[in-house]
Amino acid sequence: GSAEILDELRAKLSPDGDVVSPRGRALTEEVFGQPLTPVQVVDKICEDVRGEGTPALLRYLKSLDKADLTADQLRVPAEELKAAHAAADPVLLESIRRIRDNVAEFGKAILHQDVTIQPKPGVTLTQRYVPLRRVGVCVPGGAAAYPSTVLMTVVPAQVAGVKEIAVVAPPTPFGAYNTDMLATCHELGVTEVYRMGGAQAVAALAYGCDDVPAVDKIVGPGNLFVALAKKRVYGTVDIDSFAGPSEVIVIADETANPAFVASDLLAQAEHSPGSSILITWDEGLIESVYEELVKQLQSLDRSELTLDALQSFGALILVRDEQHACELTDSFAPEHLQIETANPRDQMAKINNSGAAFLGHHTPVALGDYAAGPSHVLPTGGTCTWAAGLCSNSFLRSGSVTEFDQTALTNIAPDVIAVAEKEGLTAHAKSVSIRTSE
Ligand code: NAD
Repeated sequence: GSAEILDELRAKLSPDGDVVSPRGRALTEEVFGQPLTPVQVVDKICEDVRGEGTPALLRYLKSLDKADLTADQLRVPAEELKAAHAAADPVLLESIRRIRDNVAEFGKAILHQDVTIQPKPGVTLTQRYVPLRRVGVCVPGGAAAYPSTVLMTVVPAQVAGVKEIAVVAPPTPFGAYNTDMLATCHELGVTEVYRMGGAQAVAALAYGCDDVPAVDKIVGPGNLFVALAKKRVYGTVDIDSFAGPSEVIVIADETANPAFVASDLLAQAEHSPGSSILITWDEGLIESVYEELVKQLQSLDRSELTLDALQSFGALILVRDEQHACELTDSFAPEHLQIETANPRDQMAKINNSGAAFLGHHTPVALGDYAAGPSHVLPTGGTCTWAAGLCSNSFLRSGSVTEFDQTALTNIAPDVIAVAEKEGLTAHAKSVSIRTSE
């Protein structure tokens, strides 16, 4: 049944799942000498980095990423950022500037504003929002390069007013040696970029070490190791959400173009691992999308990785009707939801749980990944039933400010005293009565 297929996929993709490729498993055995689970791996790495600091960090960069770095090579020099920017394709830089404006415009529009009310004479109550001082941003770099992630994390942080932003990316050609990623950092005014990724980078940002000052919050996507490490350090620092391996559910009907639908499923699988699920009540569409998948897969640069992901985490699901499609989608709670039907808003109205939704035949997820405005850093693994995607407000901390004059305090004093005395906290009651009794 369709529900069982989705349950099985959800179990694999959940935060406690095991979305690790055979290559990843072999690496674990090679480095740790035994077949540890991802959670065990992350526990070990975080403890080592917390206890030893930089030496453990460098050791893991060497064993996991094959990067033999010294402590003073961890931070990307300013000249290197500048040189990457100078050498970057001007067309890319122009796009980056336009995308920055889109992301900033949306981020500013939704930014929380302080709220002050005066519910009674002499009473002023404020909910105040202040930016975080220092944040760490994870930019993936294992299987692909993500200049887009720099935009989708750094720009909302800047809009919120964060002063110190430390970007980390693994010391790989897709990570901190990727000149497009470095050029994007420079274009956005980021000066602190570290060559470190994976759980070891998250631990270094959370606990701090001689060469990396600790941050207040760690945001950004990553593979299972990054996502589990963020989960583990929560409490020492804040995190955005569990933004692990990507996933999409496409809901489509007979009005959908099978070539479009297939291209969306392939785009998500290309993250590798990434999960791509089609749900439709149109039997013919299953057949035509399958044919398109086979056809389009052949022409992709990353066809082997993409096929791997489709086989492990993909599904084409035929359901009874539209209602059934919406119910299944809501219970799966996908990171991305794409609705390619005649009236996508009808289905949207029936679905609560999705990290980000894309409506219509002309709104591919890739638009949101790269340019539309809302951030592409989204909760995965079913966590969007309670977690939200990254946005400018993720970089604000709220606090309240309360101010009473003496008459207002006298008016409310009986309530404070009544409850404080019931709780046996007489010093609390006294701190009020001392101000109000004649
Ligand atoms: P990554 O930078 O997240 O992870 C690479 C690092 O993982 C390596 O540097 C290494 O330190 C560590 N690692 C790899 N194998 C390991 C092992 N066996 N044991 C211990 N550590 C290991 O890069 P990635 O692999 O390219 O993954 C990026 C992921 O981010 C993709 O799955 C993609 O779908 C996801 N993503 C999610 C979002 C989102 O918003 N949810 C956005 C963009 C990308």
